[in-house]
Amino acid sequence: MDHFQYRDGRLCAETVDMARIADDVGTPFYCYSTATLVRHYRVFAEALAGLDATICYSVKANGNIAVVRTLGRLGAGADVVSGGELTRALAAGIPADKIVFSGVGKTESEMAQALAAGVMQINVESEPELELLSQVAVARGTGARVAIRINPDVDAQTHEKITTGRSENKFGIEWTRAREICNRATAMPGITIVGLAVHIGSQLTDLEPFRDAYGRMRDLVAMLRADGQTIETLDLGGGLGIPYGDAVAPAPAEYGAVVRQVVGDLECRLIVEPGRLIVGNAGVLVSRVVYVKEGATRTFVILDAAMNDLVRPALYDADHTIIPVLEPAADAPMAEVDVVGPVCETGDTFATQRSLPPVAAGDLVVMRTAGAYGAVMASLYNARSLVPEVLVNGGDYAVVRGRIGVDDILARETLPGWLDDDDPAMRRTGG
Ligand SMILES: *Cc1c(COP(=O)(O)O)cnc(C)c1O
Repeated sequence: MDHFQYRDGRLCAETVDMARIADDVGTPFYCYSTATLVRHYRVFAEALAGLDATICYSVKANGNIAVVRTLGRLGAGADVVSGGELTRALAAGIPADKIVFSGVGKTESEMAQALAAGVMQINVESEPELELLSQVAVARGTGARVAIRINPDVDAQTHEKITTGRSENKFGIEWTRAREICNRATAMPGITIVGLAVHIGSQLTDLEPFRDAYGRMRDLVAMLRADGQTIETLDLGGGLGIPYGDAVAPAPAEYGAVVRQVVGDLECRLIVEPGRLIVGNAGVLVSRVVYVKEGATRTFVILDAAMNDLVRPALYDADHTIIPVLEPAADAPMAEVDVVGPVCETGDTFATQRSLPPVAAGDLVVMRTAGAYGAVMASLYNARSLVPEVLVNGGDYAVVRGRIGVDDILARETLPGWLDDDDPAMRRTGG
């Protein structure tokens, strides 16, 4: 359920006419709905009601500080995977003691940043990381609260590029070695083991892999406690899928039931890290049709949005529903078209042989379910812009990140002396 619906034949974000925002900020742009963010957060929180669970929103899904702050005001903490995301979460007002620092390649300076900020816990994914963290903590004189991220060797049955919990993936410590490593870590100066963590992948549409992974965690908690470890926290990661296109996904309540059944009685403080589930349906990418081109065998609808704005179709074969901003007549003739962007890559294709109502140059279209892994993955390829992000709240809207265009980037580029016609040194050497 989202708040991008037709009203009197015009697509609105909550009660704001999308065409009005497009006229105001120009296309393409991302548009997020506060009411949808709030609803998704509440439905998820409700699914875990009664459990001692902290929701740490996964900032990498959508790091815009207005989005993060909206969730923070509802009580969310944050899961961050880089020093940059930690800076964002703090800038959005998330208290440090509700921030989990995850990630497979934390640098020394990121560790120092996390310790200085006083994050709730650092999820460690390897022995070398544990050793470095111990050194950094000792040097700073601040102890590190650590959870060991476990690789449970469970197949999440999702797209191969977003599966993270199989033994051949780079993430986490093999579950068979967890005991040995936790016991070693306990002896390291500056390290306090507070718990375990797991995250098996993203866009999971089946609950069984969660059940398997959490069952394995349950066994490990029991084993470590028997060794005398204090396991206070159990971080269950994120990954619950959402419906893209016609796909179906489990309801948060069904996920909550699995959590309750498998780990609900462990007397651990649970941490959950949903990203996509909260923001995916709360955002759309709005674009204008530049041309409709009749190819030899196909019709191409060429948009002003491209793979640099939304890479998910190119990277994950993702299926984003595409709808026109002006509601088509119920009996509008549908045609099969390829919807593409202007970037010089065949991969710059949003949909192939998609059945769409008639669209013409100048029409506005919307790609749904673009709130997660959309703007955060954008690039400047083809000297395009990072497009504006707009947040709607009821009948209000605000640009929450302005366009970052070629002029902004050119201002950061410089010519070295030997290429600069105005450099006096060059004139001296006759260069
Ligand atoms: C990406 C990530 C998440 C969020 O995943 P979603 O599929 O967006 O819910 C949570 N935890 C960790 C450690 C992650 O890397």
